[in-house]
Amino acid sequence: MATKSKKKPTTKNKSAPAKSKAAKPLKTAKAVKLAHAPGTDPKRVAAILAKLDEAYGNATCELKHENAFQLLISTILSAQCTDVRVNQVAETLYKKYPDPKAFAYATPSELEQDIRPTGFFRNKTKSVMGASKAIIEKFGGQVPRTMEEILTLPGVARKTGNVVLGTAYGIASGVVVDTHVLRLSSRLDLSRNEDPKKVEQDLFSHQLIWHGRRVCHARKPKCIECNMESLCYAKDKTV
Ligand code: SF4
Repeated sequence: MATKSKKKPTTKNKSAPAKSKAAKPLKTAKAVKLAHAPGTDPKRVAAILAKLDEAYGNATCELKHENAFQLLISTILSAQCTDVRVNQVAETLYKKYPDPKAFAYATPSELEQDIRPTGFFRNKTKSVMGASKAIIEKFGGQVPRTMEEILTLPGVARKTGNVVLGTAYGIASGVVVDTHVLRLSSRLDLSRNEDPKKVEQDLFSHQLIWHGRRVCHARKPKCIECNMESLCYAKDKTV
């Protein structure tokens, strides 16, 4: 849900230089405008949630996995890549590399070729091997269960942390803010922040991701098929 902005009282300091007196209100006004999305009226948000539930009641992470470790690796591989492609690669990958040890001590050039179809394979190899080593050396072979700890793994940022903690462990650490959630939270006026960390504080769920993938596409959203069209006043609506 949108966080309420805290209006700072204007300090009247007669001795302050004219320049800083003029700059303060501008900054405050901008912050208030960014934080307050009119679309977050509780009734409207409840209506949007009901529509998302109606359309995607079973929404969950689309990366196939059998355990938290596989989900972590697949999420790292999913950067700049579709879940479908990652799932294709994962089918053979986890047979060849069944646990953190297998990834940690893999031959880098071989692993690079194994994950090549997901793109950025050199960096991803470093992240996957680094995260696997850290899991073995610092966390006894288990993917950690707190955001603070999971963020210490190479190649793991908040989005990955939220996917793994939320999906594999059922720990509601926060909200996954990917490209779909960023776009839809703006279109639906649920957040006026652009920083994923701040949008995360404003939002909810995999349902927006599913809606972004299936209906509310970046180019030409299928508004005619959208069950929340009557609640949406996005400038780039197609109906
Ligand atoms: S009406 Fe169109 S722009 Fe608005 S949420 Fe639905 S698909 Fe997206």
